[in-house]
Amino acid sequence: MKIGLTTTIPVEAILAAGHEPVDLNNIFITDAEPDRLVARAETDGYPRTACAWIKGIYSAALKHGIETIIAVTQGDCAQTHAMIETLSEAGTRIIPFAYPYDRDEELLRAQIQRICDHLRVTWEEAEHQRERLRPIRMKVAELDRLTWRDGLVSGLENHYYQICCSDFHGDPERFEAELGRFLSRARGRVPARSAVRLGVAGVPTIYSDLYDFVEGLDARVVLNETQRQFTMVPSINCDLLEQYRRYTYPYQLSGRVKDLREQIELRQIDGLVHYTQAFCFRQIQDLLMKRHLDVPVLSLEGENPGPLDARTRLRLEAFVETLVARKRH
Ligand code: SF4
Repeated sequence: MKIGLTTTIPVEAILAAGHEPVDLNNIFITDAEPDRLVARAETDGYPRTACAWIKGIYSAALKHGIETIIAVTQGDCAQTHAMIETLSEAGTRIIPFAYPYDRDEELLRAQIQRICDHLRVTWEEAEHQRERLRPIRMKVAELDRLTWRDGLVSGLENHYYQICCSDFHGDPERFEAELGRFLSRARGRVPARSAVRLGVAGVPTIYSDLYDFVEGLDARVVLNETQRQFTMVPSINCDLLEQYRRYTYPYQLSGRVKDLREQIELRQIDGLVHYTQAFCFRQIQDLLMKRHLDVPVLSLEGENPGPLDARTRLRLEAFVETLVARKRH
């Protein structure tokens, strides 16, 4: 059975139950016509001011006939609450999952156990799946190193393979084989060099050409903050509970800032693009991000799926030019 997810959750429980995880965000944004999925939600009554990701995953779930969804009701997005109510009315079975705001160990343990109970698997069986995924995560860690240390993997490729780790395309071994073939090719490339090293932070962008555009300037993306978190590579040596406690995205911003500060230093990043989504509460976090990071931060806002608009292109060009000039002085 396919089980939809609204964002990264302990996917190990789904795999332990022999089901196929499907990240609804991924099937929305890789749809041939994601804008039509957004429009369908609006036709069904969603307001224009609801987030396009929410509208897209609602329509993607219906389009693909996903009958069961594990929905994150705390630690991701308040709009998910209303969205799952509309899907529930349409007959979808909803299994809620909440990341405790303060990373409380016992609360998180209870939430993971709840998913296991819903799916009729034991904690030990889920732990076993974590071990199964470990070699795949090691390969993704290599891909990330080939990006920031060796210049052999582009920012877009880094984004793609890391973001796939929320559901491993529903088939971890097939994904591992695809990744292995990609790594073999990448290791033989000539390293790319550019004047400026950028990080991209925030929710994954809805723009289709952000990476291509930025890397067409004198810049390379050497960090994808949230996508890297989806891989669980930073907690690869931890057990299941600790893995999801160290995952920064669903908890307080301070954990994300600490992680970003470390990665900015390690990867020698010159500037950060903080992507936010129109009508998203996470836009408020932008001010804290700017306050607590020591590199220049460009805040970008996207709304609907599609290419960058002219104004955003100009802002990116000006940002990269400023960083280039800063490095020369
Ligand atoms: S971008 Fe913001 S509002 Fe949209 S789904 Fe993600 S967290 Fe929710």
